[in-house]
Amino acid sequence: MARQIDPATRDALLARVRFYRDLGLTEFYRRPEDPALLAQLAALPAVASDEPQRDSSQETPIPPRKPMQAPPEIASAIPPAERASALQIIRDEIGDCIRCPLHVGRNKLVFGDGNPAARLMFVGEGPGADEDAQGIPFVGRAGQLLNNMINAMGLKREEVYIANVVKCRPPGNRTPEPEEGATCSPFLFRQIDVVRPEVLVALGATAATYMLGSRQPLAGLRGRVHAVRGTKLIVTYHPAYLLRDPRQKKEAWADLQIAMRELGLKPPGRG
Ligand code: SF4
Repeated sequence: MARQIDPATRDALLARVRFYRDLGLTEFYRRPEDPALLAQLAALPAVASDEPQRDSSQETPIPPRKPMQAPPEIASAIPPAERASALQIIRDEIGDCIRCPLHVGRNKLVFGDGNPAARLMFVGEGPGADEDAQGIPFVGRAGQLLNNMINAMGLKREEVYIANVVKCRPPGNRTPEPEEGATCSPFLFRQIDVVRPEVLVALGATAATYMLGSRQPLAGLRGRVHAVRGTKLIVTYHPAYLLRDPRQKKEAWADLQIAMRELGLKPPGRG
C-alpha cells in the first residue's frame, strides 16, 4: 500500500530534489528508491492559483538520455526589415499544429513575442498556464520577473525577442518529452535564424539542452559564452526557478552581465 505524505513533506522532498539539481545530480531519478512514494508525489495536485511560466527542469526528472537529433542547417540571413514577415511564415507553417501530443491540451499556441530583429533573444522551456491562456510567452509571474531582468539590463521587453523550446503547454507542467522537444525545436531554430540575435540567453536547463544539443548540468553551463547557430549563448536560471529560490537572483544577474558585456551594454544609470 502506498505511503501517505503530507504537503510539508512533499515540499521538503521537492526542495531536496532542487538542491540535487543545483549540484548537477540528475540521473538518480532513473532509479528511485521508493517508486510508490514518487508516484504519490506526482499524483499530488499542483498549486495552480499563481502558477508561473513553466520551468519544470528544476523539479521533475529530465528526459532519459537518448541521442539528440541534429538541428537543421543554419538558414541564410534575412534583412531586418523582412524578419517580421519571415517569422509570420514560420507561424503560418506551424498552423494549428498536431505534430506532437502536446496539441491535445493546448488552449493557445505560444509562438514568440518581441522585436523580430532583436539583438538579444531569450529562450525558455515551454508555456505555462498564463501563457497558454494568452498565447504570449512569459506573461505570468515569471514573465514579470523576466521583464524586470530585461529592464535591469537597460532594455525594454519590446526590444528583445522571446520564445520557447515547445510552443504548447505540457500537461501538469512536466518537462517536454524528448519526442515533443525534438518535434517542436526545429521551429525555434528557424526563429533564431530569422531574428539572428547577437546574444541568446537560455532560461533553464531544458532550453540549454535543446540549443546546445547535449544534456549537461546547468551549473556547468553557466558563467561562460557558448556558440550556437553562429550566435553567442549564455545560460542562466529560468525566472520560475528564481521565484522559488530568490537567493539565485544574484547568480542570474551575473549571467546577464555576461550577456550585457557581449552586447556592449551598461546597466541604466552607469553611463
Ligand atoms: S508543441 Fe510544437 S510540435 Fe507539438 S503540437 Fe505544439 S507546436 Fe506542434
